[in-house]
Amino acid sequence: MTLAQNLRQVESRVSELARGRPVCIVAVSKGQPSEKIREAFAAGQRAFGESYVQEALEKQEALRDLSLEWHFIGPLQSNKTTPVALHFDWVHGLDRVKIAERLSDARIVAKLPPLNVCLQVNLSGEIGKAGVTAEDATALARVVGMLPGLKLRGLMTLPEQTADVTLQRRRFAALRSLFESLRREGFELDTLSMGMSDDFAAAVMEGSTIVRVGTALFGERRRKT
Ligand SMILES: *Cc1c(COP(=O)(O)O)cnc(C)c1O
Repeated sequence: MTLAQNLRQVESRVSELARGRPVCIVAVSKGQPSEKIREAFAAGQRAFGESYVQEALEKQEALRDLSLEWHFIGPLQSNKTTPVALHFDWVHGLDRVKIAERLSDARIVAKLPPLNVCLQVNLSGEIGKAGVTAEDATALARVVGMLPGLKLRGLMTLPEQTADVTLQRRRFAALRSLFESLRREGFELDTLSMGMSDDFAAAVMEGSTIVRVGTALFGERRRKT
């Protein structure tokens, strides 16, 4: 199957499961060369996700002639916040106040509009994994919501891999219920970033508004992931 065919297939599966609700597909292009991004663009794809700053900047440079929307979905260290704030439209994995403050400051200094951010929530409680606990999400949302250079859009999660669809759905339902409770508290959130190649169906059924799909579109990654 070609990339364009993969894209049409993922799009139609997502829209079937979303039953008319809009769901954005972020094409995760980490580990893929810029020519693949160009090919996806030609097939109509506009939003791309990258996890490694240097790799992303190189590809963005090579693709400067295209109008693309860039999502940073990787782990973010504080010494990389400036390039991410300057070269991305979205950051999905925010889980620390210090990183949030640095991203906000960099957007303000550069006179750019607020950066769209999602808080990463670790639902399975795995030690050492990125993300705040559901209990800590509200406190982080309060701080992030006050930062002038950021626009808090919603929540993101990266659950443990499992082929058990019931478990997949339980994790995604837990993120949605946290999202709804934050909205009841007054946070104006509109984004649930959940679902990847192997579990986007379960995520869309549970209310995902952004799925981050790599392998199902591009095939296996060449570079390190
Ligand atoms: C790599 C990655 C994806 C895409 O994974 P696939 O299984 O290739 O679809 C999605 N989200 C995050 C945070 C990732 O790091």
